Order: sequence, then structure tokens, then C-alpha cells
Amino acid sequence: MNTHELWQAVLGELELTLSKANFTTWFKNTSIASFESDRVVISVPNTFTKAWLEKKYNAAILKSLQTLNGNASLRHIVYKVDVRPQMKMPAQESFQVATLGAETQTITREDSLVSAKKMMVGDTMMLNPKYTFETFIVGKGNELAHAAAIAVAQNPGTKYNPLFIYGGVGLGKTHLAQAIGNEVVRRTPSSKILYVTCEKFINEFIQAVKQNRGKEFKDTYRNVDLLLIDDIQFLTGRDGTQEEFFHTFNTLHQNNKQVVLTSDRPPQQIPALEHRLISRFQMGMTADISSPDFETRIAILETKCKERNYELEPEIVRHIATVVQSNVRELEGALNKIIAYHQFKNTKPSLEGAKSLLSSFSPSQSKKNVSAKQIINTVSSYFDVSIADMLGKCREKRLAFPRQIIMFLMREEMQSSYPSIGHELGGRDHTTAMHAYSKIRRDAEVNPKLRQDLDLIKQRLYSA
Ligand code: ADP
Ligand code: MG
Repeated sequence: MNTHELWQAVLGELELTLSKANFTTWFKNTSIASFESDRVVISVPNTFTKAWLEKKYNAAILKSLQTLNGNASLRHIVYKVDVRPQMKMPAQESFQVATLGAETQTITREDSLVSAKKMMVGDTMMLNPKYTFETFIVGKGNELAHAAAIAVAQNPGTKYNPLFIYGGVGLGKTHLAQAIGNEVVRRTPSSKILYVTCEKFINEFIQAVKQNRGKEFKDTYRNVDLLLIDDIQFLTGRDGTQEEFFHTFNTLHQNNKQVVLTSDRPPQQIPALEHRLISRFQMGMTADISSPDFETRIAILETKCKERNYELEPEIVRHIATVVQSNVRELEGALNKIIAYHQFKNTKPSLEGAKSLLSSFSPSQSKKNVSAKQIINTVSSYFDVSIADMLGKCREKRLAFPRQIIMFLMREEMQSSYPSIGHELGGRDHTTAMHAYSKIRRDAEVNPKLRQDLDLIKQRLYSA
């Protein structure tokens, strides 16, 4: 095995234990630079990656190198930053003519467009001052996104452009995006920052086209230092908004202006998103957020209590963290419910009282009923395969795996019988369903990537 093959093998092993976003973020553009008896030098693209690999993945990389190379005398890894030119955009796409029409009509003020007047230097419109890094609790599920957000806030436009943060509802995407905005303005008060939801971007664009105010729209969006667009998964229309966003993005990117996007799913899974946009979204840094683990949920609850100057017995905090598992928004909701109730009654919360107040949060009851059809639809769209293919005969891996996930979820979420699962999936045998269920259950125990897929799918299933 030469060093290239060795590194590929190491990457192959690491990939199995990491989410796709984590893997691509940290291991893209890495290689073995040199190899001596007890020392390997790994070349990495930047200091941020270097620090992260040293801190988080050094042990795993070393172990994998030792086993794969059959060389237990290997003791150290040195990470060396290898500065290579940044990825450039293809020229033919970068200079297309802008899409908006004539721009001569008088500007009307009553619509929702962010007016030029409001976009003064130092404008931080729409940033919520309570969403800062200080109030954001870091845990396993969000440490990557948090680290990336900090890196971007400290060096906007240079490090990771765009930063693409994705994850299920209520996990802190908006909080992080806004924290970047708040931090940038704290460091450089003169920065022009624009935070918008994707829906607002689309509405304003459509209004601008209707009223021939294209120039104003462009001036607004293309002259900022930092553009934060929340919930970009809604950018799916065929009405010119994708095209307009593409040009906005290119202009900002070419001028080293930072773009931060959030989404409930990774770029390649946003339905009907143009290919050139998918590739733009992937060219900076993609960071995922997953549900907080128990310790993080406790830490979040304790911090929120402190912020509100409210004391809760540790056993009550533990109870909340046990029954509310899905996301931080619900966690806050549960805490607020307990605090509000007891403040109103002017009593001290007891564990029993908390239990009964939160009975609706217990996992079995808070779930709404889902149907076989919903599971099939959700999983098909998550993996971007057609329902016909999913129910069809073809056994290619790209179809077989999502199919197994459907069968697993039908069993787990609906308690369907194996024969009826087989029937729903285009008339398959019940043994196929049994096999699929136990396989996914087993795999999920050892494969965090699969667990994360299941989490994201369930979130979509229940939030639809
Ligand atoms: P999303 O945009 O992913 O749906 P939000 O950013 O709106 O989620 O977060 C929902 C709520 O949970 C917000 O009030 C936010 O402040 C809070 N929250 C989420 N993650 C964290 C965290 N890690 N630490 C503290 N608060 C958090
Ligand atoms: Mg949000």
C-alpha cells in the first residue's frame, strides 16, 4: 500500500463513523505528506482544520493508521497546513447578466422591501440581540456548527464562504446565524449586515420584479458585508428567485463578502434546487446540527434557569431533559410551562407537579399518528428517489437502503405487522420486512450517521 492508498483506507474507516457533513468538512483536501517510522505528516488545508483534527480526531486517525499499516511503532501525527489556492468558480457562470428588468419606476415605500434608507452603514436590522454565542450552549450535536460559526464571525468572507448550517427544527440554526451577525457587528460596528428569511427574500424579489424596482433590490442585497439567509430550503421556485439568488451569491462571493445559509437539510437534498446552486452551497463549509444529548439538554436547562433567575431542583431538571428529547425549542417550551405555572400559583415546583404538567411531552403521547404513505413520502424525498422506484422491483443499493428505512419506521413508529409492511411496499414478503427492521435497528446502534438520518427523517415526519 502506498501512502495515498493508506490514507484512502483511513478515510474509508473514518467516514463510517462520522456524519457526511463532518467528514467532508474535516477531511476534504487532506493527504499524507510524508511518512517516517514513528511519525506521519498529514497535510491539511487550513489552521482551523489542523486545530480540529488535533483536538477531536487525532486518536481515531492514529489508531486507524496503526491498524491499517500494521505498524504499532507509529506514535505521532503532525498536521501541516498546506496553503493551496482556493476553489474558484467556473468563469462562464460568474458573469451572467443580471435577471431583473427595467429599473426606472419610482420606488414605492409601503411594501416590505428593505429600503435603501434603512440599509445604512452599521445596519443590523432584524438581528435579535439575545441570540449570541454567549447564550449558545455547545454540545456534541452542535459543536461543529458552533466552531464553524465562530470561525466565520472572526474572519468573515475569508474562511468558509458560504457557511451552510443544516439540521432539524428547533436545534439552534437561527440562533447561530444571528450570533454570527451579532458578533460581526460587535467586532466591526460599521459592517453592513443583512439577515432575512428565505421567504422574505423571495417575496421581496417578486415584489421588486412586479414594480420594476430591480435596482433597489440589487442594491440592498449585493452591497452587504454579511448576508444571512435563514431556511434556504424554501428556495425552490422556478420564478426567477433561484437565478436572482445565484447572482446575488456570486457578487458577494467574488467580493469576499460572507454568506451564511441555514436549512433543514443538506444542499443536495433540497428538492428542485438548481445544480449550480447546490455546488455553490457546498463549496465553503457545510456543518450539521443534530439533537442535543442528555448532558447538553441538562446544560441548556440549567443555563436558561440561570438567565431567568429561577431555581429548579436538579431532579426536576433531569425529568424535563428525560421527557423532552427532540429539540431545544421544545425544551425551552417545557421549562417555560413549569416556570409560568408556578409563578402564577406562587408555589415551588415539585417533581410530581412537573411530571403532570409535562405529561403531554412524554414521547409516546406527543407523537401524532403517521401513515404508511407519509413515511414513504418523507423517506423518498429525504433520499431523493421517486416513490415509484421505491415501491418497484429494482434492488439497487440506492433504493434498497431507503426501502429498509421505510420498513423500519413503519414498524417502529406505527407498530405495523410485517406482512402489512411488505404489502405497503409494493407487495414484498414479510420476511423481507423482518430482515430490514432488524438490520436497521442493529446498524443504528453502531452507526451514528444512520442514527442522524433517522432523527432527521422523524423530525420531518412529525413536523410536517
Ligand atoms: P432552528 O432555527 O434550528 O429551528 P432556533 O435557532 O430558532 O432553531 O432555536 C430554537 C430555540 O432554542 C431558540 O430560542 C434558541 O435560542 C434555543 N436554542 C437552540 N439551540 C440552543 C443552544 N445550543 N443553546 C442555547 N439555546 C439554544
Ligand atoms: Mg430557524
